[in-house]
Amino acid sequence: MTFEALGLNPSIIKALTEAGYTTPTPVQEKAIPAAIGGQDLLVSSQTGSGKTAAFMLPSLHKLADLPQAPQAARTPNQERQASRARGERPRFTPAQPKMLVLTPTRELALQVTTATDKYGAYMRRVRVVSILGGMPYPKQMQLLSRNPEILVATPGRLIDHMESGKIDFSQLQILVLDEADRMLDMGFIDDIEKIVAATPASRQTMLFSATLDGVVGNMAKRITNNPLTIQIASSATRHENIMQRVHFVDDLSHKNRLLDHLLRDVTMDQAVVFTATKRDADTIADRLNIAGFAAAALHGDMHQGARNRTLNSLRRGQVRVLVATDVA
Ligand code: AMP
Repeated sequence: MTFEALGLNPSIIKALTEAGYTTPTPVQEKAIPAAIGGQDLLVSSQTGSGKTAAFMLPSLHKLADLPQAPQAARTPNQERQASRARGERPRFTPAQPKMLVLTPTRELALQVTTATDKYGAYMRRVRVVSILGGMPYPKQMQLLSRNPEILVATPGRLIDHMESGKIDFSQLQILVLDEADRMLDMGFIDDIEKIVAATPASRQTMLFSATLDGVVGNMAKRITNNPLTIQIASSATRHENIMQRVHFVDDLSHKNRLLDHLLRDVTMDQAVVFTATKRDADTIADRLNIAGFAAAALHGDMHQGARNRTLNSLRRGQVRVLVATDVA
């Protein structure tokens, strides 16, 4: 199977060839033709399966086919200049995106945005903007004033802009919920329902999640219309070099000593320690530093700049032990 055979626009194929993609992954093979055909999708697949391209390629393909906006339409900036010229107080014209991707974290949103820029590199008229918590409001207003076709957003910050009239979803055609199970785990259900309610019922909805059971399944039923369900079994073979072990410990001190012992393994280059809470991540990272490990914490209470610095130190090998909540 090739990307050409999936019927994608030649400018997308060109970008994919440049990115070194030769064959669609299983999730892409199933999702792309159905999404081009306008069907709603419920997809259970893991990160690493190529799920971002599975929803972004057909969406870009469809956005490329949309008729050009009428020539007379002014950009939001021109609109503001015109109202100033008329002596009126400039009004912010709300952005009217055609596609919205909701993600649980800023990191994932940025990954999706970068991938979209890559896949859409040869397409005219497709602008993508990320709307994220932690980003200064004036910067976001400036991005929204460009009236992007695609918004990639975390739910909380998007709600702020929606409620203050900066975004109008009446023209939305495609809604994607990426890692929906994690968004629900993070307590975004009310925000998601509010956002979905603000979009036209005629939209196409694609929901991606590690699991489609329970709460996610119930929400999926409410927000999709006769969806195609795609289940991609996570491939066990890809993880065959991972050994899983369970250690039973007597108490916290025993647990700390055991961690210390595991991390002193000289054959280990780098390690990630996951903790349940942000406070635990900080405490353990501090304790490991005192014990002589190059350790750093990563969690959602840290500013984006601090998170990026930690990740860069990890990439450069200056951090050996990353202690993280599931934001990692
Ligand atoms: P994702 O599951 O969307 O996080 O994608 C995982 C990685 O696979 C990303 O680095 C993509 O750039 C890459 N990828 C996605 N689709 C393909 C493909 N068809 N061929 C090669 N690499 C791909």
